Amino acid sequence: MKTIFEKSNGTDGINLTDENINIDFLPSDLLRNDETKLPQLSELDVMRHYKELSDMNFCIEKGFYPLGSCTMKYNPKVNEFLAGLEGFNIHPNMDDNDVQGSLELMYNLQKVLLEVTGMDAITLQPSAGAHGEMTGMMIIKKYFDTIGEKRTKVIIPDSAHGTNPASAKMSGFDIVEIKSNSKGQVDIEALKAVLDKDVAAIMLTNPNTLGIFEENVEQISEIMHKNGSLLYYDGANFNAIMGHTNPKLMGFDVVHLNLHKTFSTPHGGGGPGAGPVAVVDKLKEYLPVPVIDFDGNKYFRNYNLKNSIGNVKDFYGNFSVLVKAYAYILMMGKNLKNASENAVLNANYLKEKLKPYYDLPYDEPCMHEFVLSGEKQKHENGVSTLNIAKALMDGNTHPPTVYFPLIVHEAIMIEPTESEQKEKLDEFVETMIKIANEAKNNPEKILSAPHTTPVKKIDEVLAARHPDLKYNN
Ligand SMILES: *Cc1c(COP(=O)(O)O)cnc(C)c1O
Repeated sequence: MKTIFEKSNGTDGINLTDENINIDFLPSDLLRNDETKLPQLSELDVMRHYKELSDMNFCIEKGFYPLGSCTMKYNPKVNEFLAGLEGFNIHPNMDDNDVQGSLELMYNLQKVLLEVTGMDAITLQPSAGAHGEMTGMMIIKKYFDTIGEKRTKVIIPDSAHGTNPASAKMSGFDIVEIKSNSKGQVDIEALKAVLDKDVAAIMLTNPNTLGIFEENVEQISEIMHKNGSLLYYDGANFNAIMGHTNPKLMGFDVVHLNLHKTFSTPHGGGGPGAGPVAVVDKLKEYLPVPVIDFDGNKYFRNYNLKNSIGNVKDFYGNFSVLVKAYAYILMMGKNLKNASENAVLNANYLKEKLKPYYDLPYDEPCMHEFVLSGEKQKHENGVSTLNIAKALMDGNTHPPTVYFPLIVHEAIMIEPTESEQKEKLDEFVETMIKIANEAKNNPEKILSAPHTTPVKKIDEVLAARHPDLKYNN
């Protein structure tokens, strides 16, 4: 009698021959003639490899991540699910009639973002904060070109995010930097001193990158507008003010938001993001196209703006990010306001707890973040901010943003976000105090940190200059 194995091997069982795997229907010029040079690994091995890499990585799922400025705010996992719904899996070239739901979502998102910014018109197209800045600056440039004014300069405070001068420069402007005053705010006299008819705009972040609210913002707006200049608002970290005030009330003309910071898209690894740009009425016709419109009956992509700067990204931006932002806003509703309150409360709590142990160059009430300095530790114990950042990794904490903003020496920029519990904040305070004490009593331990991570201190210069990106057999 045949065994079941013999049986299955013959006509009784599955019989896969060349004949019944027929690929003749594929065009012969598309068939490969040589072996694929793919690594020969089992699926299990590959899966374990990536899991191991993921375990070596530090992520928000593991612990506190108070990055500062670029911190991811609240990213509910359910939004990933929503963005992946089958109905949203559409081709950007589909006819407006066949994607009414998606257009409606974008239209509604435009409306709520206009509501929170106070502005009059908006584009969802730019795909990052910096991209939004450049879009905004191009709008400003085209505006002045169109009204026949030759304005070549943009004023930027020395505390600004590095993308601000880069975006203005790439849009064809010259940069004029102004110093901050002793309160970490725009120095009004310094501003007046550089103001002339060549100035197209000022780019401001408010609260600025020190986490401090510009208390003279209305006066700044008045001075700029009197000079015929415009005001650009860097709204990357909008959770500082959301629902409490808005850039329009402060006198701004253009604002970008980072949906991938404030409105629930995770942004590790560089994307995807979305940096919508909202403008006041007189700049409406300059927005990139298409904008999403509604004629009372149908949603449609409107390409018909008189002075449009054109197209800054293919189609209409990163759609899945827009879905997540809209889901987040609907989920939060009026609680958007609470998110700001908690973000500001959490940051002030940490600031007050930590200031006995670290230098606090600008001892002002802060908004969503604050900036400490490691100068004391550096001078007294020879422990730098970089060493402190590395030591935090041994305390199951992602290091904060360091050495930024540039105007604070040995800067340690901390942003806890709205979503952390008090227990977590207290744990972080303890870790920071422990590091400050160790810097004093056992500096060697901090200097040689990290001790618990899979990889010790890497040679960052070597890694940047000679990146090893090859697959090794
Ligand atoms: C993150 C950030 C930006 C740039 O946003 P990207 O999406 O990274 O280009 C600009 N300004 C401020 C204040 C930021 O925090």
